[in-house]
Amino acid sequence: LSSRSIPVETIKYDDRGLVPAIVQDYLDGTVLMMAWMNHDALQKTLETGTTWFWSRSRQAFWNKGATSGHTQTVKAIRYDCDSDALLVTVEQRGDIACHTGERSCFHQVNGSITPPPADTLSQVFSVICDRRDTPSEGSYTRTLLDGGDNKILKKIGEEAAEVVMACKDDDAAAIAGEAADLFYHTLVAIAHHHVDLKAVYRKLQDRRR
Ligand code: AMP
Ligand code: ZN
Ligand code: ZN
Ligand code: ZN
Repeated sequence: LSSRSIPVETIKYDDRGLVPAIVQDYLDGTVLMMAWMNHDALQKTLETGTTWFWSRSRQAFWNKGATSGHTQTVKAIRYDCDSDALLVTVEQRGDIACHTGERSCFHQVNGSITPPPADTLSQVFSVICDRRDTPSEGSYTRTLLDGGDNKILKKIGEEAAEVVMACKDDDAAAIAGEAADLFYHTLVAIAHHHVDLKAVYRKLQDRRR
């Protein structure tokens, strides 16, 4: 765990002894929650590999998920330029970080429930799933989905060939465009087969190192 090297002593705690910790999903970068750590909570987090915070209302340590089961396994911890804020990257058990049952605490926009933005592929994937699950006219995505594997897989083959051609031409703009096409059509296939994009991300992360 690279986070073990975090200099607990040089982190700047405020006059209450606290430092804000922003918690982020390691798969798609979604900001899950913010809570406070003190020196000992940070120490416990490093020692156990799960997140510990200091509850200001209860004046007690709080091991996230102890009662809900929604524990967080720490993947990395970094601190900001002036060492007074932490960014904790985690694997979120149950994919729910908020005590309301929402995935992220940051789900409110003007009173309506809207999940915070994740990375671009995830955003596109969620639009594709939307097209799949709700009627939408004049949608290219919907045309592909209605065509099923026959239509979708043929497009993947074509786009893959176009990526190959763009690479042979060493044409940077074409490679970007064709790779985007290939990613998009692959996302459509993934959505068509009701596979979770995060399962794909997990495979990619598991193959790192
Ligand atoms: P948990 O840590 O998930 O077992 O939840 C225990 C208690 O911690 C909840 O009843 C809440 O009071 C509080 N809590 C849990 N998650 C959050 C969160 N993301 N933000 C603020 N408070 C939380
Ligand atoms: Zn700062
Ligand atoms: Zn919350
Ligand atoms: Zn193309």
